[in-house]
Amino acid sequence: MTAFVSQPVPNPPGSGPLPPFGRTALLLDMDGTLLDIAPTPDQVVIPEELPTILQRLRVALDDALAVVSGRPIEQLEALLGDEPFALAGEHGGAIRYRPAAAVERVPLASPDPAWQQEAARLAEAHPGVLLEIKQHGFVLHYRAVPELGPALHDALAELLRDTPAFILLPARKAWEVRPAGADKGTAVAALMRAAPFAGRLPLFIGDDVTDEDAIVAARQLGGTGLRVPEVFGNPTGVRAWLKRATEIGAWPAL
Ligand SMILES: [Mg+2]
Repeated sequence: MTAFVSQPVPNPPGSGPLPPFGRTALLLDMDGTLLDIAPTPDQVVIPEELPTILQRLRVALDDALAVVSGRPIEQLEALLGDEPFALAGEHGGAIRYRPAAAVERVPLASPDPAWQQEAARLAEAHPGVLLEIKQHGFVLHYRAVPELGPALHDALAELLRDTPAFILLPARKAWEVRPAGADKGTAVAALMRAAPFAGRLPLFIGDDVTDEDAIVAARQLGGTGLRVPEVFGNPTGVRAWLKRATEIGAWPAL
């Protein structure tokens, strides 16, 4: 069994005030953090106020604004344009360091095509299960049929048995098969080594189990990692907090 679950990392107790804008790099998860979760990934809606909030934050932070997501970069660009300066996609497997720059990919293994065929067969056999193909892996979504979650997990875990180069990761009502070697934590670390992020303190906000790596990375770099459910409640709370930040020119109290 190769299933892998990141251990939750507690927020630092009594963490101090956040640094001023001039010393902060803001790195944000997208789905479930900036955007409300939709029944399927392609049904997400960009809230009307979000582009303006991101645009103002990017200016206020001297471009030190990134979105770090599991989605491919192309989807992030289609949904958010150039409002974030940098984009990390595919859980750290791909990074676009600045607008219009080439996408840089971490060299990663490709999954056995037979796994994808088996996943397609599972999706076909169970109405409501959706297969999403990614560059170096795939996701089985079971939001419409949550009772199938454990059985789908077991089927995928069986496929990956004895294959340490790949991990099975829980997402929101979904199981993701992806190569080991890149995650949102490695993406945060890579972005923080590059301009305009380098020299600032990372502030990462995420909502999901795949965000725990980024929360750990942000804290290891002397910054802050915040979980949406605990700190903001939901994406509406995140957007309200970010909007308030643009209005007062500083991070509002948490
Ligand atoms: Mg998320």
